Amino acid sequence: MIDTVYFEEEVLQHPTATRVRKALPKANWVPINRFQELFNIRNQNFRIQKKNPALILAKKFENFVLPVPSGFGMNSTKNFYFSHMYNCLYDCDYCFLQGLYSSANYVLFVNYEDFFEHISHTIEKNKNDSQMFFSGYDCDSLAFDKISGFSDQLIQFFEKYQNVEVELRTKSVVTKSLVKRPAIKNCIIAFSLSPNKIAEKLDNKAPSIRRRIKAMKDLADYGWLIGLRFDPLIYTNDWKVQYSELICEIMGQINVSSIHSVSYGLLRFPKKMYKKISNLHNTTGLFAFPLDINNNGVTSYGKEIESEMYHFIQKELQRYLPVKKIFHCTG
Ligand code: SF4
Repeated sequence: MIDTVYFEEEVLQHPTATRVRKALPKANWVPINRFQELFNIRNQNFRIQKKNPALILAKKFENFVLPVPSGFGMNSTKNFYFSHMYNCLYDCDYCFLQGLYSSANYVLFVNYEDFFEHISHTIEKNKNDSQMFFSGYDCDSLAFDKISGFSDQLIQFFEKYQNVEVELRTKSVVTKSLVKRPAIKNCIIAFSLSPNKIAEKLDNKAPSIRRRIKAMKDLADYGWLIGLRFDPLIYTNDWKVQYSELICEIMGQINVSSIHSVSYGLLRFPKKMYKKISNLHNTTGLFAFPLDINNNGVTSYGKEIESEMYHFIQKELQRYLPVKKIFHCTG
């Protein structure tokens, strides 16, 4: 699955690198100085590289914990994110990472312990506020877990901080590390979801919606709290029927008491990022639909469609859930 692993020489003896070595015994291992030498090269073609990405093992030195962009969090006073990895095994047409990075190679930062140290400083510094931490902003939180082993260590860490919440956002059904241990109540496993027909077209390489719902149900049965993330909402001719059926199906399978929160947000990109991504995908239906650019330079479906979708989704969700569990993401 991964033919080449580039590694910063300094990280080769790190336990995470040893784990990756065991998981990828047949890969060609190539030493480098710093990951930026490869990752930040200009004029790389994301789409071509995405066909066979390499893995880069690196050490992170700064920006371990960052405040989330506005409109991203839920009801905590302080919301932060961290990225132990850049890029993702999956290949969703709307993924903003294609607009953010010029390389589709995966970067895994092996020094998890430094992330945890910085997160604990952040928790201490903001101890008088409610806090939520988001994993999976620049990657999928669980998709690479068999190789990275990150979630296991993350959960062990957050188990000690029951007063803050952490979200693992995913489309993955790799839940082994979660079901083999007792659930913790401050960790939310948040699944990104779209109606089946839309996911089949756009969520390339990701598990089907049926498998995601099954994974959610299994996790809920094991006591984990589940997040539902309908973001981005995608507009089609029959979007109302499709979203209504999806929400109904999920609510038929998952008990409301296992649902921590539901959030939804429309397809939206900063103007420059939209241009870059749509150039990479000029043949797909998603980017053939005419989008609007608002005064803040955000490209989206425009006010009329946005308003219709928001009202409909909010109303559908309220049929099953209390309003306090439903959040509208704008960031
Ligand atoms: S699962 Fe998320 S991070 Fe991965 S390709 Fe899809 S949108 Fe991007």
